[in-house]
Amino acid sequence: MITSAQPGTQERVGLLAATEPLCEIHDVALLDLDGVCFAGNARIAHAADSVNGARSAGMRMSFVTNNASRTPQAVADKLADNGIQASPAEVFSAAMDGAALLAEHVPAGATVLVVGGDGVREALIDQGYQVTDTAEHRPAAVVQGWDPGVDWALLSEALYAISQGALHVATNLDSTLPTERGFALGNGSLVAAVVNATGVQPLAGGKPTPGIYQRALARAGGSRPLAVGDRLNTDLVGARTAGFPGLHVLTGVSRARDVILAGPHERPSYLHTDLRGLTEPHPAPHAVEIEGATWWQVSQQRARVVGGRLELDGSGLLTEPGAVRLDAYRALVAAAWDHADTTSGDSLQVPELDVLAP
Ligand SMILES: [Mg+2]
Repeated sequence: MITSAQPGTQERVGLLAATEPLCEIHDVALLDLDGVCFAGNARIAHAADSVNGARSAGMRMSFVTNNASRTPQAVADKLADNGIQASPAEVFSAAMDGAALLAEHVPAGATVLVVGGDGVREALIDQGYQVTDTAEHRPAAVVQGWDPGVDWALLSEALYAISQGALHVATNLDSTLPTERGFALGNGSLVAAVVNATGVQPLAGGKPTPGIYQRALARAGGSRPLAVGDRLNTDLVGARTAGFPGLHVLTGVSRARDVILAGPHERPSYLHTDLRGLTEPHPAPHAVEIEGATWWQVSQQRARVVGGRLELDGSGLLTEPGAVRLDAYRALVAAAWDHADTTSGDSLQVPELDVLAP
């Protein structure tokens, strides 16, 4: 297994190189869903061909999602609608993570209050628990996951149960939930309502806790995992914390500028515009000295930091929003991360950049 640098050490956290396609050197992909495999109700270009192609090359798939409301069958159906082969057994949701986390503390057979929907209920039953929706059944635990049916009455049942000594487990702590109208309340905000009354912090699963990746890997089998995601602060932080290499794709939330400015705790190991990153090699970034200046080179693209700005060889200083090629993006990231790690407090001015799909 490849491990990442530990916080507080001087080890550098940079991009990795892969001379073979990632699907041949990693035996299991821990794939995020929204922003990676599909975008809400829209397809993402190359997602289906890449996932199906990686599977054909022998890579196992585990679809790891913070969505606690959908059942594994519902997730597999949505993936099928997007042309991606998947079985329910390959889905690992935050609801399942919450149930697996609970199993480390409360034996199977116990009664658990469900503050959530079918996803949480099914995950708990699969783990061997009895489920209830009332504190009057003296549940041993409360498992709370997002569902549109969670209301004041059910949140109050959670408070009654926890006040009687039940263990509080949250499937995930996302404060917001993206919707077509903007951000709505996520599970973490509803958990915060309960915590405001109990004063007791819950055990929490879901990304970015590393446990969800570790438990998903244990479920999937395999020994050389690759985490794949679109959000630095959940998918990639979780990967770093778990010690798994991460592939970042630009089809979701975090943009190229975010990656260029990423701190060590959230940096991906591999970069691509989309899931073709699974089925392609990744060229090595390396430093080159030219007339006394240090540049970072990936394939034929060279970048460096000069005067708090990024410079791309042949294009000059990047001062305005624009578009760059994939290997130029990788070179810019290598240069920016090296700059951040070797200078203290020098901020970097970076415009919004689009990365041209190869
Ligand atoms: Mg996502």
